[in-house]
Amino acid sequence: MVKAIAVFPRTKEIRLIEHPEPHITQPTQVKLRILEVGVCGTDRHICALAFGNPPGESEYLILGHEALAEVVEVGEAVTQFRPGDLVVPEVRRPCSDPACRACQAAHQDFCYTGTYTERGIQNLHGYMTNMVVDEASYLHPVPSELREVAVLTEPLTIAEKALVQALQIQARLPWRTNAASSDEPGRGLRAVVLGAGPIGLLGAMLFVTAGFETYVYSRAQAPNEKSTIVEAIGATYLSSETTSVEQLKERVGHIDLVYEAMDAAPLAIDVLRNLHRNGIFIFTSGTSPDHPFNIDTAAATQHLTSKNQAIIGTVNAGPATFQSAIEHLGIFQQRWPQVLPALITHRYPMEQAKEVLLAKPGGIKHIVSIA
Ligand SMILES: [Zn+2]
Ligand SMILES: [Zn+2]
Repeated sequence: MVKAIAVFPRTKEIRLIEHPEPHITQPTQVKLRILEVGVCGTDRHICALAFGNPPGESEYLILGHEALAEVVEVGEAVTQFRPGDLVVPEVRRPCSDPACRACQAAHQDFCYTGTYTERGIQNLHGYMTNMVVDEASYLHPVPSELREVAVLTEPLTIAEKALVQALQIQARLPWRTNAASSDEPGRGLRAVVLGAGPIGLLGAMLFVTAGFETYVYSRAQAPNEKSTIVEAIGATYLSSETTSVEQLKERVGHIDLVYEAMDAAPLAIDVLRNLHRNGIFIFTSGTSPDHPFNIDTAAATQHLTSKNQAIIGTVNAGPATFQSAIEHLGIFQQRWPQVLPALITHRYPMEQAKEVLLAKPGGIKHIVSIA
């Protein structure tokens, strides 16, 4: 048996449980010892029973989707991994509909049917446990020097996927067609990140690295631990308590890209109203039922059309973005050696995972250390 943190939807419990140890049953599988698992809003929504489902007949779902693991055993057909290797596993697995072109093309992050599965979220057990078995094709190798920070890979993939899409949309402008392939595809553009949680801060690092003049707009007044990180990476921190959206627009000049990671739709919509011509607005968290809002749809569509704007939503990430996230963590580590470790403000043993999942403690990123 292994230990695991599980949510029981029927009895509304979250418990440390004993779970049968998984074993390799296919030659393409890899057995992993989980080292660390990140906790995020998704886990807290699952614990509040807002969504998430246990697999098959199981009465519980093992939580956790942001993992760093070590290979302990490989199936006989696996040649790319050896015991001792560090890996980050993907979250989403394809649906079984042969007509789903996205899943058939290994882009289950764009699944058409919605019947995909997700580890730790939807119909598959997650990673808050000692051992898991996974297909080698869903694992991404991590250099050993990233051992302390690689648990941030999955939250960074959200920004990686958003950036790829933003650059693809930018390429509709004929004079920007080649920008995506340059070293700093964001040079000359200004990005506003909404929210200074882990998703927002990792996004800000990515946009700075991509050459964007980057601003982070968040609630808390500076100085605070998040604004310190923002300034350390050469971006600008602005508090929504002391800077109105109008003032934000004035300060930035032209808002070319907005990366929303704030879960506060009314504020996001205000910023959307101030998006520059040809601008792109990317929602990653959208709106939670706690923050209902109204939008003047006529005015909004008028803005969109008269200014050539694009609004997109994005979720999950594909294999290429996991790979680029790991590469970028290495770049961030070299460029700002103090910053990534400072993002991880708390590490807890499995025995304390329940408290972290149920509370919303301060700090930035909370990690459950498994091994
Ligand atoms: Zn997450
Ligand atoms: Zn699909």
